[in-house]
Amino acid sequence: MKIAFWFRRDLRYFGNEALIEAVENGAQVALFFMCEQQWRDKHGIAPIQLDLIKRRVAYLGNKLAQYGIKMHIEVVDSFCDIPARLQSVCASYQIEEVYANKEYEVNERARDSECMSIGISLTLFDGDVIAKPGSVLTKNDEMFKVFTPFKKTWLKLFERQQFIIPRWPLEDKMVPALRWSTPECLIGDSSSIKWPVDDESLAGVASHFVANKCVSYHAHRDIPSIKGTSGLSPYLAIGAISVKQLLAEVQCHYPDILQTPSREEFTWINELIWREFYRHLIVAYPSLCKYKNFNKKYDAVIWNEDEHSFRAWCQGETGYPIVDAAMRQLNQTGWMHNRLRMIVASFLTKHLLIDWRKGERYFMAKLIDGDLASNNGGWQWAASTGCDAQPYFRIFNPITQSKKFDPDGDFIRTYVPELADVPSKFIHFPHEFITLASSINYLPAIVEHKEARQRALDAFKV
Ligand code: FAD
Repeated sequence: MKIAFWFRRDLRYFGNEALIEAVENGAQVALFFMCEQQWRDKHGIAPIQLDLIKRRVAYLGNKLAQYGIKMHIEVVDSFCDIPARLQSVCASYQIEEVYANKEYEVNERARDSECMSIGISLTLFDGDVIAKPGSVLTKNDEMFKVFTPFKKTWLKLFERQQFIIPRWPLEDKMVPALRWSTPECLIGDSSSIKWPVDDESLAGVASHFVANKCVSYHAHRDIPSIKGTSGLSPYLAIGAISVKQLLAEVQCHYPDILQTPSREEFTWINELIWREFYRHLIVAYPSLCKYKNFNKKYDAVIWNEDEHSFRAWCQGETGYPIVDAAMRQLNQTGWMHNRLRMIVASFLTKHLLIDWRKGERYFMAKLIDGDLASNNGGWQWAASTGCDAQPYFRIFNPITQSKKFDPDGDFIRTYVPELADVPSKFIHFPHEFITLASSINYLPAIVEHKEARQRALDAFKV
């Protein structure tokens, strides 16, 4: 039987078990559907992530050519076009079976069902997660609505498992001279160029983090001015690296890590399990992919429609330095530190009382690591509308957060240069200081903290 492999958000060959199985069964063709129009118009993909995808697919096309595998790219406008196109590609290569990794979002699942309904033999794998969605359940066989028991059950399933990454079967068949000519549709705008896409660099980032920084992650992960987190999210989002590969790497250093969640190094694993939790949620509750509140109770919240406030938030012009620095980091680099994502999401939904869906879309349009499940999970957590979310009455005070996580204002000074000379004591809310030193040009605060907090409490109570 002639098999092909269909790449999606699993843009790796090393550690791609579905691809490895396809290759072991003789696959010589890999497919990729370039669906730029739908990704842009319907999914709101950030140009920087699109560029990263293009660069990585081009890299893979070249790599696979060296191993004798042809990468076939099809350009389509929308997912609706894919089934018929796939059918004709299969016919032209006489392919009888297609292997692929599952994507868990609603449109992606509908696309796969449609392919199968017209007779394409599609074998799907769960390469994006450790635990298959639907496999971590309560005693009543339901999806957990709280993270901690989900994590405990997840750990019970895997605590004795040593993750081993299967070897790439064609390693000794490589012909470096073989080349693939990159199709025009993969030529991007180079906006993601600061993020390398070659395997050596990716492996280097992962192994350097695990060997040197995993141990101090619990202490440094909340300080945005320190590079204390892995920075691997863009690669996880497009599947250039997998969670299983990362766990295998961690186990090389800490073999019993899954049996000892009390260890400090486990803090990082905990985040990887949050990622799984959010993936399981969108499968159990597909309406999340349609931007519905997880908690219907909050459908009654009346959001503020003020476009001026929303724009000020987007542009980093709220007059709250930590919020502005964070938004400018996002706008300038396409990435934002997790603590800051929580602060700005809370500020938008509570202080400005703006619908979390607007923030979620803005993040997607800017983030290099945009990922529906994690983004939706993070936004609904911050807005208190989500599963295991922050209670609505716990409202981050942006000034206190700033003092705690950027005490000397190092991060603020990097992204809000107009405050570079403000003494640390005043940098978290510099308005009084600015009145005295009038040469500083910084915006007044868009809302007063106490008033905004009370408005949010009232709105959520209703
Ligand atoms: P590390 O701290 O090194 O963590 C390792 C990996 O674990 C990350 O790469 C990521 O894949 C996963 N992870 C870490 N924290 C979380 C979390 N809270 N939820 C789910 N997975 C997590 N992450 C995305 O990948 N894409 C998004 O679109 C996204 N949107 C977010 C929106 C909001 C409002 C919030 C609060 C969080 C969001 N996150 C998102 C989660 C988190 O902020 C990023 O994954 C993290 O900042 C990426 O940096 P890192 O790779 O250095 O993470």
